This record gives sequence, structure tokens and C-alpha cells, in this order.
Amino acid sequence: MLTRVLRPAAVSMRAVPRVAVAAPKRAGMRSFSSSVARRDEFESPFGINSLYKVSEEEEMLREAVRRFAENEVKPKVEAMDENEKMDPEVIKGLFEQGLMAIETDPELGGAGGSFMSAIIVIEELAKVDPSVSVLCDVHNTLVNTVLRKYANDDLRKRYMPRLSEGMLGSFCLSEPSSGSDAFAMKTTVKKSEDGKHYIINGSKMWITNSAEAEFFIVFAQGDASKGYKGISAFAVTKDMGVEIAKKERKLGIRASSTCTVNFDEVKVPVENLIGEEGKGYKIAIEILNEGRVGIGAQMVGLAQGAFERGVRHTFEREQFGRQIAKFQGMQFQMAQVATEIEAARNMVYNAARLKEEGRPFTKQAAMAKLFASQVAERAAGKAIEWAGGQGFTREQGIEKYWRDSKIGAIYEGTSNIQLNTIFNLTARELGHQ
Ligand SMILES: Cc1cc2nc3c(=O)[nH]c(=O)nc-3n(C[C@H](O)[C@H](O)[C@H](O)COP(=O)(O)OP(=O)(O)OC[C@H]3O[C@@H](n4cnc5c(N)ncnc54)[C@H](O)[C@@H]3O)c2cc1C
Repeated sequence: MLTRVLRPAAVSMRAVPRVAVAAPKRAGMRSFSSSVARRDEFESPFGINSLYKVSEEEEMLREAVRRFAENEVKPKVEAMDENEKMDPEVIKGLFEQGLMAIETDPELGGAGGSFMSAIIVIEELAKVDPSVSVLCDVHNTLVNTVLRKYANDDLRKRYMPRLSEGMLGSFCLSEPSSGSDAFAMKTTVKKSEDGKHYIINGSKMWITNSAEAEFFIVFAQGDASKGYKGISAFAVTKDMGVEIAKKERKLGIRASSTCTVNFDEVKVPVENLIGEEGKGYKIAIEILNEGRVGIGAQMVGLAQGAFERGVRHTFEREQFGRQIAKFQGMQFQMAQVATEIEAARNMVYNAARLKEEGRPFTKQAAMAKLFASQVAERAAGKAIEWAGGQGFTREQGIEKYWRDSKIGAIYEGTSNIQLNTIFNLTARELGHQ
């Protein structure tokens, strides 16, 4: 039994996820996701598996994260939300579990896992707390992935082991006057006279993880006359002079820090340029395509977490002498939401597998994020209604899912921006321009 390999509390089992998230060797090794013990019974005779098939490693990881979330995160969720602050023990725990370097090469301190592994981790954490989920998501799918895919060996070796061990990362693209139109950024970069440094000036806004982060991927404009082709990306550490300014007070994901980050003559060694000068826009576009699958996973986990809490209430509460779950009017609503969550999950998993296969996935990632965020909001809203007055109170924790769900339609591209992408790619597929 694989489950026996995992220690009960998933604490101090650092070695387990690192083993657990090792990349699947081949598709045929995938196992059934909902029953580890019986996975072999569900192999397709035709060799093509359903999206429920995950590798043995991915399945073990899901179980380990589930335990970590239940035992280590859940008891802290309410206080973190009320205090609008991430508990440092949670961040420490995520690093200790090996959950902050899921796809990172083992030589650089990571687990060398699949993209799907990251998706599973993000989903499982979001069932319990979408704030913890996005902290892990940004660090893995944006920060680590930028270095993994675009940085040279020197940069990777300098920063990735630290990003695996305990140094939290942020992704700094948005600015006060450039959100959806991200490449209209005003943050500038120029080379120092001796040619040894880049000097960054400007302000980034809405930066997730920034209150706790020591590492920042920063996008800056080096030659406005070139438009988006003047933008470059840099690896910046806090001690280079990054200033964390105003922390936002938010509707949801309140434990996740969102701050303004200022750069005032910040000197960055020339070696810290990521990729080539002028290629920052390409990095941002490509990385956010992947990131959107992560946000889709966060929204699916959130929807599932809210759904389970809401359904449980309908079996515990009696009215008119019966459990309210026995009323068909309630059952149909729950069936509808269950169906929508299933659809959203399949869209997210399919986008993740398409990416792993090296196939185009931009449209599917946009669709998955768009739909999953809509489903999350509906599921959380319905769960509040199913729990009646109790659903509306803060003590129950159900209303938090609804507050948290709203961000799904905003960050890493608003829903309208996803619709733009989906329409443009669909029209192109149909031969229109
Ligand atoms: C909690 C939180 C965390 C965040 N974390 C990060 C982070 O870590 N790093 C980072 O770089 N950014 C981050 N962001 C920023 C986020 O990505 C932006 O908020 C988002 O891209 C939207 O930009 P905006 O807020 O400026 O809205 P705007 O771009 O001003 O959009 C306002 C409205 O106009 C619509 N709109 C805009 N343009 C179009 C168009 N062409 N067609 C149709 N509709 C349009 C939008 O859909 C939206 O409804 C975060 C934001 C929040 C709230």
C-alpha cells in the first residue's frame, strides 16, 4: 500500500514528497486517482487513459498534501484570514514538505516533478485555504518556472537552491497604471555607466507574496521606443534595495500578502538579466499561460472545498422533520454544482497534460481559468445558501470561500482578457483573422 509509505501528519516528511513528485517515467505508469490500492484495475485496454489517471508519484503527493493541509494549515486558516497575515509556520512547512520546488531539478534542491504535480498541490491546498494555495502557486508556477525555463546555468545555480530551501519569491509585472495592458509599464531599466549593473526605477503594484519574499522576478522597460520589445526580466533580491510599501486590505485571500513594491535606483548585476534583453514580454506571456492553469487548479480546489462544507451541512441540518439534503430542490442544486466542478477539473487537468505533452495549450488554459473561476464563485455562493444563516456567518468559514473566489476572475489576466484570448484563437482556428 502506497499510503503506508506516508507518515500520518505529513510533517517532517520532507523526503516523502521529494520522492513522491518525481516525474512520471511514461504515460502507461499513471494510476487511478481515487483509489491507490486498486489502480491497476482501471487501466484502459487501449492504452489511452482518462484524466483521472495520474502517476503513482502524483497520487502519493496528493495524499501527502491533503494531510499537510488538513493537519497543519486548517487549524490556522481562520486566524490567518482575520489577521490578514500568513503564519510563518505555514510557509516553513511548505518548504519543509518540498512543496516549493515541485518541478525544480533535484540537483538544485527540487523534486523534479511534473507540471501536473504542481497542479495537484495547488488544488489540494486551495480546498483548505486558497491563500496558502496562491502563495505556493506563484512561487512554483511563476517564479521557479521563469528561472527553470529562461535563466542561464549561473542564475539557476545561484538562486534555485535557495528558492527550494526557504527563500520565497514574487512575480512583479503589474503597475498602478498597467494591469491588463501589462506591457504599458512605466518601470524603467538602464545600464550603469561602467556597464556592470542594470538600474531599475519604478513601482509594481498588487504583488503576491511580497511582504514575505526575498526574491523578485521584475519586468522593466529599457527602451520605450521599442514598445513591448524594450521589456526585459531580472532576478532581483530584496537586499539590492527593494522596498516593500503599502500592503493592500482585501475582500478575499486576505492571508496572502499583496503589496506595492518600489524600486528606487535599485542596482542589479548585469549577470541577473534573465534570458536576453528585450525578451521580457515573451517570458511574461509564456509564463502566464502556465500560471493560468495553476489559478484554474486553485479555483477547482476552492470550489470543491466549499462544496464539501455546504453538502455536509445539508446532511447535518434538519427542517420540517427531515435532513435538508432529502429535499429534491436541494439535491438538484448540489448535483448541478458537482457537475460544474467535474467539468472545470477536467478542463484544468487537460490543459496541464497538453502542456506536459508539449502541445499548444494557450486556449485551453484560458478556458480552464475562466470557467473554473466562474464555477468557484457559483459553488461557494451556493454553499453559503445551503448552510442558510450559518453559511453567512464568519465562524463557519464557508463565506470565506466566496470572498476568496472573486480573485479568480481578476489576477493572471481578468476574465475579459481570457475571453479575448479564447475568441482570437478560436477565430484563427476557423480560418478568420
Ligand atoms: C490579490 C491580487 C494579487 C495579484 N498578484 C499579482 C502578482 O503577484 N504579480 C503581478 O504582476 N500582478 C498581480 N496582480 C495584478 C493583476 O494581475 C491585475 O489586477 C489584473 O491583471 C487586472 O489589472 P487591473 O487591476 O489594472 O485591472 P484593469 O486592467 O484596469 O481592468 C479593469 C476592468 O477592465 C476590463 N478590461 C481591461 N482591458 C480590457 C479589454 N481590452 N477588453 C475588455 N475588457 C477589458 C478588465 O477585464 C476589468 O474588468 C494581483 C492582483 C490582485 C488583486
